[in-house]
Amino acid sequence: MHCVVVGGGLAGLASAVWLAESGQRVTLLERRGSLGGRTIAMPVAAVDDVPDNGQHVFASGYEHLMRYLDSVGTREHVAFPGHMTVRMAGGATRRSAFGGVAGLRTAVGDLPGVTGLDRLRTARAQATLIRQALRQPPWLDDITADDWFRRIGMPQSARDALWDGIVIGLTGDKPDISSAKVPADLLVTGIRRARETRTPISIGYPTVDLDTLFVDGAEKVFADSGVEVRHRAVVSSIDVVDDAVTGVTLSDGERITADAVICAVPVWNVRGLLDQVPGHERIYEAIDRLTPVPIVSVNLYLDRSIGMADWGEILHGGEGVLEQVWDRQRMHGRDPGRHHLYSTTVSAAYELTQKSNAEITDLQMEMLRRYFPDAAEAEVIHSHVVRMPKSTFAQRPGTAGIRPDQRTSVRGLALAGDWTRTDWTTTMEGACQSAARAVEVILERAD
Ligand SMILES: Cc1cc2nc3c(=O)[nH]c(=O)nc-3n(C[C@H](O)[C@H](O)[C@H](O)COP(=O)(O)OP(=O)(O)OC[C@H]3O[C@@H](n4cnc5c(N)ncnc54)[C@H](O)[C@@H]3O)c2cc1C
Repeated sequence: MHCVVVGGGLAGLASAVWLAESGQRVTLLERRGSLGGRTIAMPVAAVDDVPDNGQHVFASGYEHLMRYLDSVGTREHVAFPGHMTVRMAGGATRRSAFGGVAGLRTAVGDLPGVTGLDRLRTARAQATLIRQALRQPPWLDDITADDWFRRIGMPQSARDALWDGIVIGLTGDKPDISSAKVPADLLVTGIRRARETRTPISIGYPTVDLDTLFVDGAEKVFADSGVEVRHRAVVSSIDVVDDAVTGVTLSDGERITADAVICAVPVWNVRGLLDQVPGHERIYEAIDRLTPVPIVSVNLYLDRSIGMADWGEILHGGEGVLEQVWDRQRMHGRDPGRHHLYSTTVSAAYELTQKSNAEITDLQMEMLRRYFPDAAEAEVIHSHVVRMPKSTFAQRPGTAGIRPDQRTSVRGLALAGDWTRTDWTTTMEGACQSAARAVEVILERAD
């Protein structure tokens, strides 16, 4: 079969790699000048460096993403240290390992800043939360995560220490916006994966930049297996005749015929592409209801070490200004001779994204000085602010079931991308799981 894959982000890359592995002829069309989509490295000439567009972390349940890394030969570049650290203003830290003794401490409500009776309330609320996540009441998608926490009596101190951060980290959005069903479903996925693999959930990170991790190996596979990659190829429609796909049309009018097409563009780029697909209105509904969420990431090049205790630290109470700090020296084995690179992340950065680069840098440096005593005298050599207004998507209450399946009503056409229906929310794993399912749908045709 000649298979066309539209979109060269993770979902499109994985689709193209796996179709090529199965012996199909593949053409990959990407509208930008390079591959990688939302997971890319970005050259910064001022410091002669290539940091990422934003720190991406892995969960140990990311099985399809790991399969992709196996396919492109870069699995060795992911580390799972088994711990992160929570830091308080003033500099006190608490290492939070995943599972084991630390997991037990969390279960009984022993969290940073949670004291007295709140520990008991936390333990009780957490037990209810897990029970309701596993046996979901019908109203879970009618309320926000914030409503849910109130309903089960989760103390504010436990929310500050753990649960609000979990919702932001997992769903990409704030607890008062995100449907309660989204974190509940993710907890279920995490528990299921931990049971299957008999290992506690842990968080990992790439030890190389995102192009080296995701794109370079794929390009090698493409070269070796004859996949044609076309950059600056903007698809304007997917062509359908008699309920079967016939190819795609590009924005300059060129037609490319195909036996099968995987459409792997993000939710905010889908409108117009599927007009010829019967029932496309249902798919387009997702466009209006899965709204984009901004992330602000900063690559801060400093003149000295700020003395991080761990590879990644969550700043307790840093919400909205500086939530996570990543020690790229430790993570990438960098030589700190020239400068020290710290990457920072603020998810759901609705307010921060409106500020100027200088304001964002000043705010974050102020915060670093409050949390890291060694940052008091640190000077900024260069600050590289990356605003991504469309980083992830929000699933608000009432959106359960809105994400479309990879299988469409059209023979030979499958959808992929983090926004299609998967066990995950807006994640790299969601993108790769959707690709695995889309490829399965297409290969049924080849049999
Ligand atoms: C700053 C940031 C931090 C993140 N952190 C994490 C994290 O820690 N963990 C995690 O799991 N996930 C994280 N994510 C989310 C993750 O990056 C995405 O879920 C995933 O990369 C989405 O992949 P995708 O292939 O579905 O979409 P994309 O990567 O957006 O790829 C779609 C591609 O389609 C192309 N395209 C669009 N329209 C057309 C067209 N008409 N014709 C041709 N090509 C087209 C686009 O140019 C793009 O290259 C983060 C995202 C960001 C931005």
